[in-house]
Amino acid sequence: MRFATYETAAGLRPALVVGDALIPLPSRYPSLLAFIAQGEPALAEARRIVAAYRSGDDLRGFEAGPALPLAEARLRAPIPEPRRNVFCVGRNYREHIEEGDRAFGREGVSEACIFFTKATGSVVGPGAPITGHGLTDELDYECELAVVIGRGGRDIPRAQAFEHIFGYTIVNDVTARDLQRSHRQWFKGKSLDGFCPLGPWIVTKDELPWPLALDMRLLVNGEVRQRLNTRDMLWDVPAIIESLSAGLTLEPGDVIATGTGPGCGFAYEPPRFLRPGDVVRAEIDGIGWLENPVA
Ligand code: MG
Repeated sequence: MRFATYETAAGLRPALVVGDALIPLPSRYPSLLAFIAQGEPALAEARRIVAAYRSGDDLRGFEAGPALPLAEARLRAPIPEPRRNVFCVGRNYREHIEEGDRAFGREGVSEACIFFTKATGSVVGPGAPITGHGLTDELDYECELAVVIGRGGRDIPRAQAFEHIFGYTIVNDVTARDLQRSHRQWFKGKSLDGFCPLGPWIVTKDELPWPLALDMRLLVNGEVRQRLNTRDMLWDVPAIIESLSAGLTLEPGDVIATGTGPGCGFAYEPPRFLRPGDVVRAEIDGIGWLENPVA
């Protein structure tokens, strides 16, 4: 199943995406966060709504719907206001580590998974403009798979990681390389407002292969700049969940960006940073695509 959040006159609403239709979830779920927190009973109800919609049944019995055309909906990030910072993994694909080492004079693979976070206010949805706020000459992109936690937990062993996943979406880990460098820490250069395009929807874990082997691409103005596959992660999703949750409780709805591959703007010679007027599109097979203009 696919879950999105869209704009209505009365505020944001969570919905199911079924084909080219959007089916608002029952009003007792004011947000996708609230839906995810209800766990398996909520998912079972959503499955019944999808089945009813597909057989042409009335959805009013579920207090869901009516369905509306997806093309007419203004989608926001599926989790537009995360309760906590977006967790992120750095340096998780060998070729991206190598291009970073060449550009920034670092070296090697670390012994532990590298974590940082992006501020909640950086999260935006499909179509929202990305801007450097006049603070950067080195605005860059990073196409990444985002994992959304379903059941929370602490000290989750990798063998049980799958049970704690709700689903997946796409994140563009927008980065101001010069701020990242000058502040000597990744948080500031990756947390400006609008620096975390997320979406367009969450695909539940049952819809994708396990272990994950998803082709991903990032395009700027239609030109492919990044190509990667999630099977090339150095720390795979179970390892990330095991390491992050060690002594740190993960909550339902937490978002974990799993790192990017080669082809970032900084790694081109000369570098190819984002400019106003560009259109950035991150794609992951089996999920969809997330497109944002640069303003
Ligand atoms: Mg990243």
